[in-house]
Amino acid sequence: MSTLFVISGPSGAGKSVLIRRILDDLPAIRFSVSSTTRGPRPGETEGIDYHFISREQFQADIEAARFLEHAQYSGNLYGTNRHEIEEAERLGQDLLLDIEVQGARQLQEKGVEAVYIFVAPPSFAELERRLRSRNTEDEVAIQRRLRQSVEDVSHVHRYQFVIVNDNLEEAYSRLRSIFIAERSRRSRMGSTLEPILASFQK
Ligand code: ADP
Ligand code: 5GP
Repeated sequence: MSTLFVISGPSGAGKSVLIRRILDDLPAIRFSVSSTTRGPRPGETEGIDYHFISREQFQADIEAARFLEHAQYSGNLYGTNRHEIEEAERLGQDLLLDIEVQGARQLQEKGVEAVYIFVAPPSFAELERRLRSRNTEDEVAIQRRLRQSVEDVSHVHRYQFVIVNDNLEEAYSRLRSIFIAERSRRSRMGSTLEPILASFQK
């Protein structure tokens, strides 16, 4: 059984940086590639960061029930492809979802079992500094995302884990610990434990 890890947090909190690190560091984690109607940023690749699709295609995917959840964020549409979960199960990997708070809520309301993690910046001022220094949005979009961040943080109580991303090393070490701890649950240790226990049967 794949474990689902859901990561949310305001734009600019550092989710992508933390996610890139965990994908490089730990084995058997698949990143859930969402569909979005927003355009690619410099350096983003179709099929790796997102599937960049038109509004018409997004609507068709909704109608064909291809999304596990979907939401509007800062004027664009984003959705998790059901196919990602099936693929993770097939490959025996865990699945990591980077989705905003409404999408995470939809999953919780559907009873989707997952490890829900919220990444928070150390302050609003630092969030603004990071969004500006990332230099990927124009002023209007930055203001929109900053307004949205107020709504985002008001949903923090829905998450089991909170990582304050002040010092990146400290934040990453906490995220890694959550993954390791979840993977050490007895319910997930079956294939490792069985031969060990069998060796005690004389
Ligand atoms: P998100 O994916 O949550 O929108 P990013 O991962 O793109 O955020 O990070 C936003 C910006 O902040 C990036 O330029 C990133 O390099 C920077 N950043 C991330 N974490 C930290 C940190 N702990 N300290 C300083 N800058 C950071
Ligand atoms: P960005 O445009 O910065 O890549 O993402 C904006 C927001 O959309 C982020 O909060 C990110 O977590 C969220 N997001 C990305 N993919 C999905 C998705 O499939 N569903 C939902 N609900 N949110 C998503």
